Amino acid sequence: MLLATDLDGTFLAGDPDNRLKLYQLISAHPEIDLVFVTGRGLESVLPLLSDPTIPQPDYIICDVGCTVVHGDSQQAIQPLQGAIDELWPGAQVIEDALSGFDGLQRQEVPQERRVSYFCEQDVVCDEMRDKIETLSCEVLFSAGKYLDILPRGVNKGTTLSLLVDHLGVDPEAVLVAGDTLNDLSMYQQSFKGVCVGASETDLLAATEHQARVLHAGATGCGGILEAFEHFGFLGHAGIAAEIPESASSGKSDLVIVYHRLPYEEIVENGELIRRRPKSPNGIIPTLLSFFADGKAGSWVAWSIDDPDLGPFQTHTEVDTDRYEKLVAARVPLSEEDVEIFYKRFSKEAFWPTLHTFWERATFRDDHWQVFLKVNKRFAERTAEEAAENAVVWIHDYNLWMVPAFLRELRPDVTIAFFHHTYFPSADVFNVLPWRREIIGSLLQCDHIGFHIPRQAENFVDVARGVTPLEVTRKAGCAPRFLTYGCAVGLDEMSVEIAVNDRKIGLGAHPVGLDLNRVRNALNDSDVQTRMESLRKELEDVRLILSVERLDFTKGILEKLHAYERMLSEHPELETKVTLMMVCVPAAKGMTIYEELLSQIEQTVGRINGQFARVGWTPVQFFFRALPFEELVAYYTMADVMWITPLRDGLNLVAKEYIATQGLTEGRGVLVLSEFAGAAAELRGAILANPHHPQDLADTCYYALAMSRSEARNRLSEAFEAVCRYDIEYWGREFIEAVEQRRTTKLKKIVPLGQSAA
Ligand code: UDP
Repeated sequence: MLLATDLDGTFLAGDPDNRLKLYQLISAHPEIDLVFVTGRGLESVLPLLSDPTIPQPDYIICDVGCTVVHGDSQQAIQPLQGAIDELWPGAQVIEDALSGFDGLQRQEVPQERRVSYFCEQDVVCDEMRDKIETLSCEVLFSAGKYLDILPRGVNKGTTLSLLVDHLGVDPEAVLVAGDTLNDLSMYQQSFKGVCVGASETDLLAATEHQARVLHAGATGCGGILEAFEHFGFLGHAGIAAEIPESASSGKSDLVIVYHRLPYEEIVENGELIRRRPKSPNGIIPTLLSFFADGKAGSWVAWSIDDPDLGPFQTHTEVDTDRYEKLVAARVPLSEEDVEIFYKRFSKEAFWPTLHTFWERATFRDDHWQVFLKVNKRFAERTAEEAAENAVVWIHDYNLWMVPAFLRELRPDVTIAFFHHTYFPSADVFNVLPWRREIIGSLLQCDHIGFHIPRQAENFVDVARGVTPLEVTRKAGCAPRFLTYGCAVGLDEMSVEIAVNDRKIGLGAHPVGLDLNRVRNALNDSDVQTRMESLRKELEDVRLILSVERLDFTKGILEKLHAYERMLSEHPELETKVTLMMVCVPAAKGMTIYEELLSQIEQTVGRINGQFARVGWTPVQFFFRALPFEELVAYYTMADVMWITPLRDGLNLVAKEYIATQGLTEGRGVLVLSEFAGAAAELRGAILANPHHPQDLADTCYYALAMSRSEARNRLSEAFEAVCRYDIEYWGREFIEAVEQRRTTKLKKIVPLGQSAA
């Protein structure tokens, strides 16, 4: 069958249950051709195409019949469009012809092959009609205020008729649906039709005696469902039987969806064993802490499905002593899926783009398909785990498409998303070929968290380019965040947006530190021994420390060049400073980093070759990951911590340095890129622009030359922020924001007259 439906008041209306039912029915029946027939311009239809809860149309007839395109590509359907274009003289010709008529106000909505105005009834006169007639166009005046000038003979009904003919569809298999007089032409083509409940009385009157037109009782989608039954589309057996069962609920009140499991899996002697992560950063333990009070929960993550290890276990315990009712719900993936989803696609397409290095990105449709497949599996597993009205907390860009799939399966759950990675502005993000799908998915969330206000506002910037959006609440960013003081500062951010009838909370929640982890490292006797020996080794040299993963976002080469510049400009530093550069290798198989490594090695070689003296090496390069405890020993010894990423979501190393120096009452100085998220939070750091070579060299020199008292004062300011906004604060603040949204949502669905529990 072919369903040709008006949008506003028809396909987009009706009670939520009926909408869901109709949408699911259409998705379950790919043989139904779906045609949107609307007065909107094509651009105003596009936002619907990025909404994962609305079925995708096969064809779109818009501009009141003047535009006819394929649903997937939005390219014109020829020769139908060509014939309409032949008739259309162009907007300028119409505007010129009507320039002498007073009382016309051009409508500010997208419009093509038609010109739309607002005006009073008496403005539309015979003189106007005659003038328009000579231009092979006609006047359509409706609802007492809308004036459309259209190519002659073109309307929703005629274009639909031509499309049905063009597709070779049996006219008996067509159902048209609408609710206003604007849709009348569709009922005049001898198709079966339905005027949905609460249709305009003029439309009802005009179709009253048409035997093939049903006047339905239910509004919107409910009316269309009635018509399916009435006309026996999809068989009389009952539409209800056709509708796929919604996913049934699970038992977990909180579901964490994280790409990594909360424990390490290792294979020993052909057997899979689990163990606690050796050195977890604060995030996993913090997320686990939400289950410490016996809360029923699931942790959804992938695991390799290796047939050699026996049947795949979907559920495993995590730690029954500490988290009694928490299970890990594993999503089985093949080695190849992991390779593409995680190592290749995420890192090669999304990582560079998110960090504004879009020209390094490669986009492959086959990889996107794998990404979708994996995200869908995550969503399906999550839907099975979540109890009714549960909170689902999804993490980071690897799982961008989970909200889209999950919302369809489980409209009841509260979806929260934390974006751990930098989020760029629309100029950069829009380079992603799948931006509409990704944003459409994220807009299914109830709360989205970013590290800092700038990233949240960038998201709003991108979303605004995908769909009409209203900012319903804003908040000042100071005093917690820098406003005009750094490249990623912002004075005000959106904290709630409304898209269609849904409200979405946005928050700036920078990830904090587990200070006990640093304390424990400082108390470790091995660390103390290491600190002692370092103290001796570094007696006469000032230590500049740099710690980062091997990645082009981290600005490693730029830093080396700045160091070279500083040594040239300040010969007195010779033999007095040393740059210790810890560079953590990327995961195996990441070939995109090979060239960068060789450039770094060459630059280190050149600097040492040029400046080294007997007994003094200007740069010490460590290409390996150090255990956290050893890193802390270096943090204590470093006079200057030099962290200059070109772009970074947050940067935990900066906070770890401040924590270490603060806890040991040191007087080290943090020089931090103003493009790292942490820069918006850490007052007291010296901020540097890593794209400006001279600034990079000058700020490092300034830090070396800084007085003890200034260094101490700066450190205590930054230390206060690190202590106050620690990892526990992060988790608590995020979950509280999510709970607030959940409460509002539940209140909304409680029937009138009953109070929310
Ligand atoms: N790290 C480590 N050993 C090293 C270098 C880094 O354990 O040799 C840890 C460091 O302590 C920090 C994390 O790796 O917790 C890096 O986090 P950050 O936010 O700075 O950068 P990312 O790698 O997430 O971009």
